[in-house]
Amino acid sequence: EAAMHYAKERGKGDYQLYFPSLKTHHTEKLLIETRLREALGGNSFTLSYQPQIDLKSKQVVGVEALIRWEDNVLGKISPVEFIPVAEETGLIVQIGDWVLQEACHQAKIWYDQGFHLRIGVNISPIQFQRPDFVEKVNGILQKTGLPPKYLDLEITENDLLYNRDECYKTLKRLKESGIKISIDDFGTGYSSLSYLRRFPIDTLKIDKSFIKEVIQNINDQAIVTSIIQLAHNMNMRVIAEGVETSDMVAFLNDRECDEMQGFLYSMPLKKEDVIPFINKTEPQKVL
Ligand code: C2E
Ligand code: MG
Ligand code: MG
Ligand code: MG
Repeated sequence: EAAMHYAKERGKGDYQLYFPSLKTHHTEKLLIETRLREALGGNSFTLSYQPQIDLKSKQVVGVEALIRWEDNVLGKISPVEFIPVAEETGLIVQIGDWVLQEACHQAKIWYDQGFHLRIGVNISPIQFQRPDFVEKVNGILQKTGLPPKYLDLEITENDLLYNRDECYKTLKRLKESGIKISIDDFGTGYSSLSYLRRFPIDTLKIDKSFIKEVIQNINDQAIVTSIIQLAHNMNMRVIAEGVETSDMVAFLNDRECDEMQGFLYSMPLKKEDVIPFINKTEPQKVL
């Protein structure tokens, strides 16, 4: 109570509570920040790649790059935990550069081996809003030699809330370069639907929270069905995230969802496991 009173006194609707747990949290954040700075100079980041499967052909058509961090001191830390810290401290810019570079480099290696996979890269709003973002992405594509149409930038609805005109220009320039744009976690953000018709977007990724109970929950069924129809009516593709059971696959197939991603087909894989996985699932594929 006293802590709450203290927080209120600090004014301006600041109702933060100063409980020990929060303090620990703060210390933890500082520690993560310190270790992240060190990680940037070393090699404790890696990327995992989760296959994205075309529902009709059952072929792997893309992979999503997901960052992994194993720190000497802190051990393995989930991106859910460290990405927000990286965003608060601005370190996300350097981390994001590394992710883009590494993902495009790897996709080019696969491309040269005859596997023309689209590569999804998660982009933080802080990266996306920087004035040099488009040049940076184009520079990385040029340097790595990956054809732009294989790069798929995943942004979230909330990224498009502010500076709409700037966002629009950025998206348009990326499109003009031939790069693909996906809206990640679609349905969970705050933005209105009006941006969808104005902004050049290729793909909607249905958030996994709508897929989780889609078999049991008729409201989730309605939402998923509507998102698929909305996307198709606007000439966009749809990917369902978090597909864990064959019931879900049947449901998505019936609703003509384009692609799926989830633990049923594959966990995120180490880079050396991606091509063996594809060869195992598609033995008919000959180079
Ligand atoms: P996301 O972009 O929505 O990525 C999908 C997340 O769902 C991944 O978690 C993935 O491992 C997980 N997932 C995949 N299939 C299933 C499934 O069937 N069931 C369930 N329950 N989960 C599944 P991960 O790798 O822990 O990443 C969490 C989030 O961290 C990502 O969500 C993304 O927002 C962020 N993130 C990851 N890598 C990066 C990165 O390189 N840059 C940025 N800015 N954010 C990243
Ligand atoms: Mg994503
Ligand atoms: Mg994401
Ligand atoms: Mg997502």
